[in-house]
Amino acid sequence: MKKMILIASFAVMLAVIMSASENGVPTGRTSASQVLIPQGETPPDGGGEYTAQPMDEITEEQREQIKLEIRLNIERLEYGGKIAPASPEAVPLIWPVQKAASFAAFNVDAISNYVDHNAAFPNQLRDWNCGTRTYDVSNGYNHAGIDVFLWPYSWYTMDQQGAEIIAAAPGVIVSKSDGNPDRSCSLSGGQWNAVYIRHADNSIAWYGHMKNGSTTTKAVGESVAAGEKLGTVGSSGNSTGPHLHFELYNAAGQLQDPFQGTCNLMNATSWWVSQEPYRVPRLNGLTTGGAPPVFPACPNPETPNIKTVFAPGEQIFATAYFRDQLPNVTTTYSLVRPDGTIDQTWNQTIQQTFNASWWWWSRTIPANAPTGNWKLRAGYSGNTFDTPFVVAAPVATVSGRVTTPSGQNLRNAIVTLVDANNVRRTATTSSFGLYSFDNVAIGASYTITATTKRFRFTPQVRTISGNLSNVDFIGLE
Ligand SMILES: [Zn+2]
Repeated sequence: MKKMILIASFAVMLAVIMSASENGVPTGRTSASQVLIPQGETPPDGGGEYTAQPMDEITEEQREQIKLEIRLNIERLEYGGKIAPASPEAVPLIWPVQKAASFAAFNVDAISNYVDHNAAFPNQLRDWNCGTRTYDVSNGYNHAGIDVFLWPYSWYTMDQQGAEIIAAAPGVIVSKSDGNPDRSCSLSGGQWNAVYIRHADNSIAWYGHMKNGSTTTKAVGESVAAGEKLGTVGSSGNSTGPHLHFELYNAAGQLQDPFQGTCNLMNATSWWVSQEPYRVPRLNGLTTGGAPPVFPACPNPETPNIKTVFAPGEQIFATAYFRDQLPNVTTTYSLVRPDGTIDQTWNQTIQQTFNASWWWWSRTIPANAPTGNWKLRAGYSGNTFDTPFVVAAPVATVSGRVTTPSGQNLRNAIVTLVDANNVRRTATTSSFGLYSFDNVAIGASYTITATTKRFRFTPQVRTISGNLSNVDFIGLE
C-alpha cells in the first residue's frame, strides 16, 4: 500500500517537472539566480536570493566625532572615579544579536558584511576568511565592522522589536545617542542611534543603527553585564536596512576584527567566546501560509501571510527562509501527518551560495487528510526544522433570535439542531432571545427547530456553507 502511494506521488512529481520545464525555465520563479533544477526535483513556485541585504557607511568625520565624544566621556568618568581601571584580562565576546523571547521564528539574523581587510578601493575586498563578504566605497571607506541583518522580514521584525542587541561583553557605557529616525533605506547621511561600551581591558565596542527610542535607559558611566539588552535593531543613520553594525577597537584604539582567520590583518586571535564558522547553514524560518509572503519596497514592513489552520483539500503555502544556503546541499521538505507518517515530500538543491534566500511552494492538503496536528518539516544540513499546523474539518457558527409574533425576545426557548444522522444538539436563548451553535460542520444539512411553552415555530432546513447569523424564529399566531 505504502509503496503504491510512493510510486503514484513520484509520477505526479515527474508530470509537474515535465510540464514546468518545457522551455527549460521552470515556471513561477521570481528569481533568475537559481540555475538548473536537478532531475527529480520540484522547482519552487517563487523566491530567490534576498538581495536587500543592508550596508552602511560611517563617514570619517562622523567616526572622528564619535571617538572624540567617547574620549571626553572616559576622561570625565576617570576624573570622577566612575570607571574601573583597565586590566590586561581577555574580554571574550558573545554574539550581540538575539531573538526576543516572545518572537516566533527559529532565528532572526544573518550576516551581510564583515570587515574589509583590503586597504585598496573601490571594489578591492577581502574578509577575514579571504572571501569577499564585505564592501568599500569610492571615497576610500573600507567597511570597519560586522553587519548583522534581520532575516526573514527585516522591517516586520524591527517593528515587532523581535531582535535585541545585547552587550557582547560586560563594561561601562561610554557614549550613546538616540532620537534619530530609524527607517533609512539609503546611504544619504544622518545620525544613528548607538551605544558604546568600554570593556575591562579598555577595548571599546560600537553598536549602531538602533531603532529610535530603543537604547538602554542606563546613562553614560553605568555598567552593563554581558548579554544585557542595549536596544533593538533598526535602520538609523547611514544605512540601507535594519541591521546591527558592530565595530570593535582594542585598548590602543586600533580597529579589530573579532573573527580569527587567515586574511585578518588586524589581530591574530579570535575575540569570540566561541567563533561561529564562516557559513552557518540553517533555516531562520519555516512557515505555513494562506498566500506567499510579500516583500514590499523599503521601508515598508513585509507581510508574512502566515496561516496555521487548514481544511482538508485546502491549498497550503510552504515557505523556507535560509541563512547561508549552500550549493549541492539538498533540503527535503515534507508534510507530516498527525501519526508521524509522511503525506508528501519534495526536494530542493541549489547551485549557488546565498547569505539569505527564501523559497515557497504551493501544496494541496488531500481532501481525505486526517484532522489533527500536522507538521511542515525541512531537513537541511543535518538538522530537522518542524513547523506545526492544524488540519481541521471546516466548521461554522449558526445563530439567530427567537421572538413572539409581535417581535418580543423570548428567553429560555429551546433551539434544536438535528443532522442527517439524527444527532441532536440543543441551545437555550438568552434574555435577548439569542442562541448560537459553534463548530457546525460545513457541507452538512440540518433541521433547526425552536420550542417554547406558549408558541409554535416553523422548522427550518439549512445546508451550511459558512457562518449563518440570522436563523430567526418568529412565533406563529
Ligand atoms: Zn556596517
